[in-house]
Amino acid sequence: MKTVSSLSDLRAARLSLNGTVGLVPTMGFLHEGHLSLMRRAKLECESVVVSIFVNPTQFGVNEDLSKYPRDLERDLSLIEPLGVDLVWNPTPEIMYPTGYQTWVEVDAMTRPLEGAMRPTHFKGVTTVVAKLFNAVQPHKAYFGQKDAQQAAVIRQMARDLNFPIEIVVCPIVREADGLAMSSRNVYLDEAHRKAATVLFRSLSAAKEMYENGERDAETLRRKMKEVIEREPLAQLQYVSCADYDTLEELGTVKGKSLLSMAVMMGKTRLIDNFVL
Ligand code: AMP
Repeated sequence: MKTVSSLSDLRAARLSLNGTVGLVPTMGFLHEGHLSLMRRAKLECESVVVSIFVNPTQFGVNEDLSKYPRDLERDLSLIEPLGVDLVWNPTPEIMYPTGYQTWVEVDAMTRPLEGAMRPTHFKGVTTVVAKLFNAVQPHKAYFGQKDAQQAAVIRQMARDLNFPIEIVVCPIVREADGLAMSSRNVYLDEAHRKAATVLFRSLSAAKEMYENGERDAETLRRKMKEVIEREPLAQLQYVSCADYDTLEELGTVKGKSLLSMAVMMGKTRLIDNFVL
C-alpha cells in the first residue's frame, strides 16, 4: 500500500494502477462504516484508492473542524489489511492553495434537511468531491447511505457535470444497539451514548408503522418526533419523510422514500436514516 500527499505523487501513483479504479473518500478516524466501503470497492474494482482529508470548506464557522478527531497512523493500520492500493492524504494547502476561488454547487436539493441546518456544507462537499474525482479519475466512487443527502447530491453532481464515474451507495453500518457508526460518536459521554439509540428507535417506530400499511408521511414524521421528544437528552433538529432522489417532503409515501433526522445529543450532532 502506497501513501502519498502531493498532487504530483498522487498522479504518478495513479498511473501505475491497473484496471477498474474505485475511490473511497473519507475524513479519516476510520470505523467499520468506512471499512465496509473499502471492502465493497475491493470486491468490485481491481485497484482501490482511499482519500483521507478533513475538508475545511464543508465545516461551518461554529462547527467542529479544529477538534474533528484525527489519527492517521491508526487509519493506515486499519486500511493496510484490506488490500487498498493507494492512500491519498493531502493537506488543506494542497487542496485549497492561496488564491483558490472555484466552487461546485448543486442547487435545490442542497437546500432542505442538512442544507437548512448547515447552509455552506454541501458547497464544500461537492467542491472537494469534484476535486477528488478530477485528481484520482476513478471509474467508481463509494459513499455511505449514512449521509443520505450527501449521496443524493453527489449522484446529481456526477450526472450534471458528466463525470464518467459510477456512484455506489453502501448500507449503513451500525453498533450492536442500532446507533449508526460515526467518527463523531467519540464525542458522546456515557449518558449521551446510551441515549443516542433514540435515533434508531425513532426510525424503527416509523418503519414499523409503514410496514403495517401507514402511508401518510406526516403521520410517520409525527411518530419519529414523538419518540425523540420522549428522550430528555435529545434535542430534535428535523425529521423528514422525503422522496429518495429529489429529497422533497412527501404527503403520501409511494416509491423509494427516505426517513431521516438530525438530533443534538448534548453538543454532538447525530444524523440517521432508513430507506423505505
Ligand atoms: P466521513 O469520513 O464521515 O466523511 O465518511 C466517509 C464516507 O463513509 C461517507 O461516504 C460516509 O457516508 C461513509 N460512512 C460514514 N459512516 C458510515 C456508516 N456508519 N455506514 C456506512 N457508511 C458510512
